Amino acid sequence: MTINKEKRIFGIPVLEDNIIWIWEENKSAIVIDPGISQPVISWIESRNLKLEYILQTHHHHDHIGGTQELLRKWPNVKIIASEKDKKRIPLQNISISDGDSIKILNKEFQIIELKGHTSTHISFYSKDFENPILFVGDTLFSGGCGRIFEGTHLEMFNSLKRILSLPINTIIYCAHEYTKSNLLWALDIYPNDKLIKKKLEETKKQILAKNLTIPTTLEEEMHINLFLRAKSLSEFSYLRAKKDSWV
Ligand SMILES: [Zn+2]
Repeated sequence: MTINKEKRIFGIPVLEDNIIWIWEENKSAIVIDPGISQPVISWIESRNLKLEYILQTHHHHDHIGGTQELLRKWPNVKIIASEKDKKRIPLQNISISDGDSIKILNKEFQIIELKGHTSTHISFYSKDFENPILFVGDTLFSGGCGRIFEGTHLEMFNSLKRILSLPINTIIYCAHEYTKSNLLWALDIYPNDKLIKKKLEETKKQILAKNLTIPTTLEEEMHINLFLRAKSLSEFSYLRAKKDSWV
C-alpha cells in the first residue's frame, strides 16, 4: 500500500521518538505539538516562514514543552487547545471543544475529542486537503494506540470507533514513531498475519533508508492495527493489557 502523503506537511523527529508536524501554506507555518522549540525554529527560519498557529492535542510535556519559546519568538502566534484543559495548557489563546469547526488559514478543521490517553485529548480533522487529514496526537499510532493514562478503556475504544467512522483515505499524522515495535508486538500475538508481516518488512526498509514510517492511512491501519481491528471492548482491553506488559 502506498501512502499519498500531503506534500505540504513535514515531520521533524525530536526527542526519543516524537514527531513534530509542520504544515506549510505559502509563507506561513502551522506546527502541531511542539515538544521542543529549537528544531522548529531552525526549520521555520531556514525556509523563511512565519509561525502562525500552534495546535495542541493534549497537555503532555513532550507535546507542549516548546510552546513557550515559540510564543516568545512569534508573540502573535495563535495557540489552539482544548477549552477543558486551560489549566494544563495555559498558553492557549484560542480555546476549542469537541464538534467545533475552526478555520486555520484557508482550511476548515473539525475538532474531534478522542479521550482515553488523557482526559481531554483532542484531534484536528480537515477535508480541505487532497485527502482528508487527521492530526491525532497520542491516540493512534501506526500499528498501535496510546497508553491509557487518565481515561478508561471504554473511552479509548470509543475514540478508536470515532476514527473508524472517518473516510478510509484519511491520512493520519501520529505524534510518535512507534511503528516497528508495534508491529513486532502484533506479530507476537498473530505470528502468521500476512498483512502485518508485509507492513513490518516495509517499515524496516523505511527505517534503513532513514525515512519516517508515518503518516499512515486509516485504510492501512484497519488492516494492520490490532486495536482498530478489535471487535469488542473486551478484545480491546485484552490487547491493551498485553501491550502494556510487552517488552
Ligand atoms: Zn501523550
